[in-house]
Amino acid sequence: MTFKLPDLPYAKDALIPHMSEQTLNFHHDKHHKGYIDKLNDAVKNTDYDGMALIDVARRAHEKGDTGVFNNAAQAWNHGFFWRCMSPDRAAEPTGPLAAKIKDTFGSLPQLRTRFIAEGMARFGSGWVWLAEGADGVLDVVSTANADLPQTAGLKPLLTCDLWEHAYYLDYQNARQAFLEAFFDHLADWNFAATCLKTQGDPEILAA
Ligand code: MN
Repeated sequence: MTFKLPDLPYAKDALIPHMSEQTLNFHHDKHHKGYIDKLNDAVKNTDYDGMALIDVARRAHEKGDTGVFNNAAQAWNHGFFWRCMSPDRAAEPTGPLAAKIKDTFGSLPQLRTRFIAEGMARFGSGWVWLAEGADGVLDVVSTANADLPQTAGLKPLLTCDLWEHAYYLDYQNARQAFLEAFFDHLADWNFAATCLKTQGDPEILAA
């Protein structure tokens, strides 16, 4: 079994003006595809062959199998990231997700401040996440390079890519402007709510 590059869930020009077609051309067709291709080469004829993507990442992390982990985690992170954005996004959380955000952060603007500050504080490449702990409490965390919240026992609900390739064509070095555009114009709270609702390792988190 080989992993396939998932299609973007929208057209490449659907996120303009906040994310350009050129960015998605490079980010999806070159960077994301590169992780998938390298992963397929690395897992061929190994014990990882036939495992779900997230399980490959988990197992490789446990074993300290860095090359497999980096490509599996980056493949998973990007598939998740595309679905965190939508041109038809829900601009505000509702229901249980809204209640948890209020309990943990006080309000959506306060979560926004935390999310952007955490994304700015991550030195170098990585990811910023809204995640749920095993105790059901939400948190904002960032991870370095390819790492993902599942390795720390957290369930991801929303993420923004902090690698320069995610924003350099559109925002040059202005990571903060990118994080603000992500939060204010791209983040889809319906997707985050779906992730919150799912239990264990459902398909939406395993793909
Ligand atoms: Mn990326």
